[in-house]
Amino acid sequence: MRLWIREPMAILAEDAGGGVVVDGTRLVECVPRGAQPSAAVDEVFDASEHVVLPGLVNLHHHFFQTLTRACPAALDKPLFPWLESLYPVWAGLRPEDLALAVRVALVELLRSGCTTVSDHHYLFPAGLEEAIDIEAAAVRELGMRAVLTRGSMSLSVEDGGLPPRSVVQAEEAIMADSERLLARYHERGEGAMLGIALAPCSPFSVTADLMRESAALARREGALLHTHLAETEDETAWCLEHTGRRPVDYLEELDWLGDDVWVAHGIHFSDAEIERLGRAGVGVSHCPSSNMVLASGHCRTLELEAAGSPVGLGVDGSASNDASNLIGEARQALLLQRLHYGADRVGHREALRWATEGGARCLGRSDIGRIAPGLQADLALFRLDEPRFAGAGDPLAALLLCGAQQADRVMIAGRWRLIDGEVPGLDLDALLAAQRAAARGLLVRAGVAA
Ligand SMILES: [Zn+2]
Repeated sequence: MRLWIREPMAILAEDAGGGVVVDGTRLVECVPRGAQPSAAVDEVFDASEHVVLPGLVNLHHHFFQTLTRACPAALDKPLFPWLESLYPVWAGLRPEDLALAVRVALVELLRSGCTTVSDHHYLFPAGLEEAIDIEAAAVRELGMRAVLTRGSMSLSVEDGGLPPRSVVQAEEAIMADSERLLARYHERGEGAMLGIALAPCSPFSVTADLMRESAALARREGALLHTHLAETEDETAWCLEHTGRRPVDYLEELDWLGDDVWVAHGIHFSDAEIERLGRAGVGVSHCPSSNMVLASGHCRTLELEAAGSPVGLGVDGSASNDASNLIGEARQALLLQRLHYGADRVGHREALRWATEGGARCLGRSDIGRIAPGLQADLALFRLDEPRFAGAGDPLAALLLCGAQQADRVMIAGRWRLIDGEVPGLDLDALLAAQRAAARGLLVRAGVAA
C-alpha cells in the first residue's frame, strides 16, 4: 500500500515540498514541490493544512512519576532533597499503578508528536519486579517505538548512597533481571520497535561493580547504556567525596565512555571533559524543563555537539517537569539555549534537530529521526488552526515560537497511531480518572495525604 502525504503546508525535509510517499513501514520517496510521485499510489492524504516533522524522539523520562506531579512534599526543592521527599512515596508503587502511569505518559508523548520513547525505570520495590514487562506491554498496545531502560539502584543510605533500603535491589537480582529482559525483548537493527538498554540510576545510587557489570553485559548483548550524569553540583561533590573523582573521570574508570552510552542532563562539565565526552561519542539528553524546575544548571549543547557528542531532548520525569510534552520541550530548549548563547546562534531548526535527528543519533539509530527515502515512516503532523498560530509567517518556526502543544496526526512505522488528536480506541477520560485515583492512593499509603 503506497500512501502519498501530499503537498504539506511545510515539511522538515530536503526537497520534499510535494510531500512524501509511504510504503509499508518505510518512507520511499520525497516528492519535490509541484511534482508527482514517480509511481502510482493507492491512497492520498491531503496535508495542505499540516506541518510535517520527523517523529520526535524522547531520550529521558520516568513514566512512573506521572503519579507524583506537583507533589506537595517535593515542591520548590533542589535535586537531592527533592529525591529524598519522593523516595518514600515511590516505594509504595504497585504494578496496577505503574500500568496506568506508563499509559498516561505514552499517550501524552504521542499526542505531542513523539514516535520513539525512552524510559528510565529504576524503581523495583517488592512486588514490582516485572516493571519493564508492564512498560513493554503498554508500548506495544499503543504501537510506539521504544527503548526501555532497565534502571537500577543498589546503594542505599546505609551503604553511603542516597535512596532508602526499601527501593534498592540486590545486585545479583538486578543483573539476572537485566539478562532476562534482554533475552525476552531486545530487538536489534533497522526498524526495531522495542529495545532494552541498561541504566544504573546515577553514580550516587549504585556501586562501581554494578556500573562495570552492566556495561559488560550490555556490550555482550549489543545494547545501549544510559544513566544520569553531571546533573547537579551536589552530584559532583558526592563523587569527589565517595570515589575521589569527578563524574566523568569516574565514568571513564568504569568503562562507560563510549558511543553506546547516552546520559541525561550532562550539565556540570569542564571544557576538557566536554572534549573527552565528544571524542568518545557519548550522547547527551538535554532536559531543559527539568533543569529549570530543579534549578540544576545549563547544558552546554553547542559545545557538546562541536566536540562530537550527539545531543537530543528528554522531557525527564513527570515529577520534575511536570509534563511529558515533547514539542513543548523543544520550545523550552530553544528558549533556554537561546538565553545562554544568543538569538543568532540557536534557532527553531536547532531545537527541532535535537528533538528528532539528535535524539535518534543518541540511540544509535540511522533509520529514524529524519524524513528521507529508506527511513522508517515515523511522522508527526501539526495543524496551525488554533488562535496561538493565527497570522504566523514561517510554519516550522511557528511550531516552537507560538508554542505548539498537540499533534493532529502521528504515524509510526507506517501506521497512524494518532488521528485528529486522538488515540484510536482509547477511552482517555477513563484512563485519566483511574490515574487520578491511583496518584491519590499512592500519597495516602505513604502517609502524606489524608
Ligand atoms: Zn531523570
